[in-house]
Amino acid sequence: MTENRYPVLEIDLGKLEHNLREIMTRCEVSGIQVAGVVKGFTAWPEIARIYERCGCPYLASSRIGQLKRLREAGIQTPLMLLRVPMLSELDEVAEIADISLQSEPEVLRRLDAAVAGVCAARRHKVILMADQGDLREGFWNRQELIGTAVEVERNLPHLELAGIGTNLTCFGSVKATPEKMRELLEIAAQVEAVVGRKLQYVCGGASSSLHMVLDGTMPAGVNLLRLGESMLLGDFLGCEMDFTYKDVFTLKAEVIEVKDKPSYPVGELAADAFGRTRQYEDRGIRRRALAAMGLVDYGNYTDIHPRMEGVEVIGASSDHTILDVEAVKDRIHVGDVLEFDISYASMVYLTNTESVQREYLQEDC
Ligand SMILES: *Cc1c(COP(=O)(O)O)cnc(C)c1O
Repeated sequence: MTENRYPVLEIDLGKLEHNLREIMTRCEVSGIQVAGVVKGFTAWPEIARIYERCGCPYLASSRIGQLKRLREAGIQTPLMLLRVPMLSELDEVAEIADISLQSEPEVLRRLDAAVAGVCAARRHKVILMADQGDLREGFWNRQELIGTAVEVERNLPHLELAGIGTNLTCFGSVKATPEKMRELLEIAAQVEAVVGRKLQYVCGGASSSLHMVLDGTMPAGVNLLRLGESMLLGDFLGCEMDFTYKDVFTLKAEVIEVKDKPSYPVGELAADAFGRTRQYEDRGIRRRALAAMGLVDYGNYTDIHPRMEGVEVIGASSDHTILDVEAVKDRIHVGDVLEFDISYASMVYLTNTESVQREYLQEDC
């Protein structure tokens, strides 16, 4: 056994592959391709390779640095940049990304020049984003979007106007609905009318759009989705997914203390380790276990979920997680390793730190 083995994030690559294939097959039936969004797991190449094996047309991240590391790790799949690029990173974007999401004419002009500088024979694909009310990125003014599409098509020879796209359910919590998709298709049709040809992509959003594919309400014509969370966890709010594994990721942590303690702090109360005042419920003396991992590892303690029934996460500091184990008091001992499911929000933390070891399971299933 190597030293400092826990916490461990275990990833079952076989189950992940199953989930990817099942979801991609359902999308394919509806004429939809899937860009595999890898930012949730910090683009670890071992996991990204599963997406490549499943035939994702693109691997996508909001960060160009992650795409660069995928290229360096030997990934051949075309790479998609999700975040509208900074002017200061356009040379890197031109060199590494094959396709990007865009919303600023000035960025497009400078990207065109950057692509020309890197390789004049190459064309970088762009998807122009329409803001449909979620109010993060995208053109708000329809005429500006159409005018920019025309400019890309006619005046920016190193860019290829690949399509238009949308992003919903991020800042504004706006639902992805068939109406929003039809509105997007209408914008695409307007762009197609002025440039005089079909667009390759109408990109209907992220995991929050998947429910329409699964329940058959996705309007025909939307042909690309960018899927992160739903494919990784095999689950997403509003989706019926009885064909996926929900336990691709397992967080394992070691118990370092087990004692009976009061549930209400003893003494004059001020603030916790983070300067916050909080409420404590007095439930009397209870069995408590301390696990050797904390907020630094996973972000927020409400985003980790003990697999053993009866174990409850009641709080955490940077390096400690406090568990109420009264209901299973005879089954928890110092040195035990407890397993947790994770929410998507904690995945970025768990995959971004040196202090969490990674282990891969690869079984055919
Ligand atoms: C992160 C991101 C996605 C993926 O979102 P999920 O909800 O994880 O599917 C898609 N598109 C953009 C622009 C993103 O930033």
